Parts: sequence; structure tokens; C-alpha cells
Amino acid sequence: MISHDILIVGAGLAGMRAAVATSPHLNVGILSKVHPVRSHSVAAEGGINAAVDPSDSWEAHMFDTVKGSDWLGDQDAIEILCREAPHAIMELERMGALFSRDPHGAIAQRNFGGLGFPRTCFVADRTGHALVHLLYEQLVKRAVQVYEEWYVTELIVEEGVCRGVIAFNILTGEIEAISAKAIIIATGGLGTVFGVSTNGLINTGDGMALAYRAGLPLQDMEFIQFHPTTLKETGLLITEGARGEGGYLFNARGERFMDKYAPKMKELASRDVISRAAYQEIREGRGVDGCVMLDIRHLGRDKIMERLPQIYELARLYAGVDAVEVPIPVTPGVHYSMGGIATNTDTATSVIGLYAAGESAAVSVHGANRLGGNALMETIVYGRRAGVQASEFAQQMAQAPFPLHRLQQEKERIASLLECDKGERMGGVKHDIGRVMTDHFGIVRTDQQMQEGIRRLKEIRPRMEHLVLQDRGKIFNSELIDLLQLHSIMDIAEVIAVSAAAREESRGAHYRSDFTKRDDVKWLQHTLAYKGAETPRLDYRPVTITRIPLGERKY
Ligand SMILES: Cc1cc2nc3c(=O)[nH]c(=O)nc-3n(C[C@H](O)[C@H](O)[C@H](O)COP(=O)(O)OP(=O)(O)OC[C@H]3O[C@@H](n4cnc5c(N)ncnc54)[C@H](O)[C@@H]3O)c2cc1C
Repeated sequence: MISHDILIVGAGLAGMRAAVATSPHLNVGILSKVHPVRSHSVAAEGGINAAVDPSDSWEAHMFDTVKGSDWLGDQDAIEILCREAPHAIMELERMGALFSRDPHGAIAQRNFGGLGFPRTCFVADRTGHALVHLLYEQLVKRAVQVYEEWYVTELIVEEGVCRGVIAFNILTGEIEAISAKAIIIATGGLGTVFGVSTNGLINTGDGMALAYRAGLPLQDMEFIQFHPTTLKETGLLITEGARGEGGYLFNARGERFMDKYAPKMKELASRDVISRAAYQEIREGRGVDGCVMLDIRHLGRDKIMERLPQIYELARLYAGVDAVEVPIPVTPGVHYSMGGIATNTDTATSVIGLYAAGESAAVSVHGANRLGGNALMETIVYGRRAGVQASEFAQQMAQAPFPLHRLQQEKERIASLLECDKGERMGGVKHDIGRVMTDHFGIVRTDQQMQEGIRRLKEIRPRMEHLVLQDRGKIFNSELIDLLQLHSIMDIAEVIAVSAAAREESRGAHYRSDFTKRDDVKWLQHTLAYKGAETPRLDYRPVTITRIPLGERKY
């Protein structure tokens, strides 16, 4: 059996930052279903928030984040994020991050939605690419053991203590037990639960599903972020940086419609506000072929090529649009999960020895709506904390025994998936889950719509028992991985659906046309979803409010 002091599941920015923060005296492994630099963090575009300018402050960053979260974010967690952010940027720069500069040679910062100060550091519109490669270099430098193209199928928790994981070596098809004193889950987001999203196909909510199946609660899963600007018919992200640099939105009548919905901040209001506005414009017939238009022409070719080269290319290649000459057709699309595995501010979960960080965790710094640029900073600040906390834990504890019978059971379960020979192919099921989630748990929700969605998911569930694979081989069986991921998608879809239907208010990204107001009396609380016998079981916990009293959210 493979054994480590610390095993990190996920090698995106959160997982790699955690690995780099672990004690050099410990035996650390990091495992990823894709090569680390293909982790989805690589796709991050617009930037990373920190109050590095002397005329800015972490307190102002904290205020913007709390307001952006519609007061559902935990303020102790947000304070840590905002206080530590400037130092985190300096650390990244010392490691070699090539942040874009202003004319004086200082780190340039751009405007982003919901920020009262241009606070977003960036590397053109390829920030994730730059940071992922930077941290991968650090992994190599520290000779951390990397298991690339390994897929975790089960998290082993017994008597409230995490014992390790069971993982599948995709290359050889071997299924192995990996024991560790501490495990850090850093498995990223869940966009594919909705079918089309800004996320790559690898964002299937695996880590959240692993934790959920092991009995841990998933927090605030009803809060799904719809990004206002995804490229027409593709789901590809057109970064908020485009609006941060001065781009604006208009409808079929040529009206700059954000004047109406957010008179002060306009295109730089928070994402939930702009997505609902664009949705309303399109629904009320003021869209252009199901889109609104993003105009960056006035920035001029030079600035577009310097600051936004990637979205220029995306628009050209996938929509046939030369953004220097014509506006880009965009529409709101599924982007990010504010919810995840519930943790405290030390990234510890309710299971001893189990930590979580990054998009798969809910610490909760984003509450009901994340501000652009805060997710990357969360991966760095809380990834680091996870590495430090897990190290302290692993240095004090002995390895709890690994129950090897669980390995045998898992091998039998996976063999039975390969042997199933009566039933349907999985594509139809995946498509149907995505359709239900898109149609019933979108930007605007109602009770009737969501109950119907839950009913349709219940109809889909039994089909999961009879899915037939064409590839029954051991070596690089990507079809089997797709099936295992589909199990995550199904579980997470149910959790989102049940959590959303229960919350009878509108807050941040969860907007209900039958409960249009925020209700702080009943709903100023986090949802916790536990695995129940048939459907998720819900509980709630209070929100932590320390410095910033409840207020109205207007942009
Ligand atoms: C297109 C796009 C642009 C974005 N731009 C920005 C931005 O500019 N600023 C910002 O703040 N945020 C941005 N975000 C959000 C941000 O990029 C993500 O929230 C963040 O990068 C997630 O990092 P992570 O480390 O948590 O997960 P990821 O980078 O997604 O890494 C997850 C890791 O887990 C591994 N994994 C998952 N499941 C398993 C399994 N079962 N077994 C083994 N390994 C597994 C994966 O292989 C991967 O290594 C953007 C998101 C998208 C989709």
C-alpha cells in the first residue's frame, strides 16, 4: 500500500499552493486526474484581487467582498483572505510570477465587478496560465511526489477519522489504497453538472461528491454563479477584465442597459446583478440572437492586444468576430460554485485529518455571490493554510490504520461497472441531467420549476444503475473515468436542487421570482446538505458576522 504523511487530491492552484506550503520534513504526495498544468485553474483569465496599492486597504477589500456575498460570507474567513492577499501577491512575485505592469513599473491593477477600487492584479488575460506554471515549477523544485492521471474513487473515513483514499491509476488500470495521516481535497468546481458552462469537462464536482458520500456536509450548494459574459453558443468565458478595461454592454436597441439596473457601477456591478439584467433584456425581447453585445472597440487595437489578447482570439476563432471592429455577442452562463465542502478558517472539515481548499471547499469567503478575482486569491491564501494546517496535524499524529477490506469492496464495485451489459450508454443520462439543471435551476428560479426539476432528477437516478461501457479494458479507460465522474455529477445535481428549493428568499446568485427579497430573519444562514437515505438531508448553521453589519446591496 502507498503511504504518505499528507496526500493532496487535486493539483490546481489550491492543491499546488498547499503542497508548496507543507513542511519539507514530511512525505507529501499530490494526485491529479490530469497533468497538474492541465488543471482547470490554467483557464483563469482576468486576475487575482489584493489591496497592494498604498491608497487601497484590506478593509475596503473586505467590505466589497462581504457586500458582494450578499452578507452570506463568513466575515472571519473574508478577513483572512483580504488581510493575507497583498503578501500572497508578493510571494507569488518572488517565486517569479510575471504580473502585468503599469507605466511606472509597478504591478498593474484593473477594475473588476463589485470592487470599489481597481484591485485586480493580472497577467494580461491569462492569469491562471501564468500562476499554474509557476506553482508547478515550485512542485518540481521541491521534488513533491506527483501522481498524475490518477483518479480518486473513494475517500475512506472510519470512526470520524480520515484514513486515506482509493485511487485508480488511469494509465495501468490498477486500483490502489493510499493511506495518509492528513488528506487535503482541492478538486475544483462542478460546471459540467449543468451541461454547458465556462468550465472544462474535468470540472465534475468529484471532491465534493467524495466528501458527501463519506458523510460530510456540502455547504451553500444552491449558490451557482452565472457569469454575465460567455461567448455566444459556446460557453467560453469572456473575462470580466474586458469590462474592467472599459468595455460595456448594450442591447438590440443600442441601449447601455446596465444604466437601468446598476446606475452607479453599471458593467462593474457584481456578477449576479449583471447576469440577471442581461437575462431580463434577452427575455423581454431586447436581445440580439439570444445574446447581448459586449463592446470593446473603443479600447483600440493596441490595448486589446496587450491586455485582452486571449478573448480577442476566442471571439475571432469561435464566433468569427474581430473585436477590434465589431461587438462580441455574449450571454450569461454557468461559471462557478460558491458552495463546497464545509470547512473552518483553518480549512479543517468535520472529519479528523481531512482538509479542503479552493473551489471544492466552502470556507466561506464568497457567500451567495463571488466577486471576480477572489477565487484565485482564495486558492492561494487557503491553499497555503491547508498545507500549513495539514503539516501541523501530520507532525503530531500517528497514521490511523487503513481498512483494507474497503479496497476489495471498491475493486468489486468498479468491476461491476465494467461488467454491466444491459442498459444505455451514459451520454444520454449526462445530457438529461445538464438539461434539467439548466432548465430548472437557472438564473431565475421558482418553487414550481425547482420541484419539477427534483422530480425529473428522481426519474433519471435509476438509469444510473444500468449504464453500459463499450471499453471494458484496464489501460487508459477514459470511458470508465467518465462514468465515475457521472456518478459525481448525479450526486451534486441532487444536492444543488434540494438545497435551492428549500431556500425561500433571493440572495446573491440564488434569485427566486416567488420570493424576490433577501430575508435575513429566516435565511441569514448557511445550508448544510448531508447524504440522506433517498434524498439529501438539510441542516443550517449561522453566518459569522464580525465587522460589517448587515446592509442593503446596491450598485
Ligand atoms: C474560464 C474560467 C476563468 C476564470 N477566471 C478567473 C479569474 O480570472 N480570477 C479568479 O479569481 N477566478 C477565476 N476563475 C475561477 C478559478 O479559476 C477557479 O475557481 C480556481 O482556479 C479553482 O482552482 P482549484 O485549485 O480549486 O481547482 P482546479 O484548478 O480546478 O484543480 C482541480 C484539481 O483536482 C483534480 N481532480 C478533480 N477530481 C479529481 C479526482 N476524482 N481524482 C484526482 N484528481 C481530481 C484535477 O485534476 C485538478 O488537478 C475562472 C474560472 C473559469 C472556469
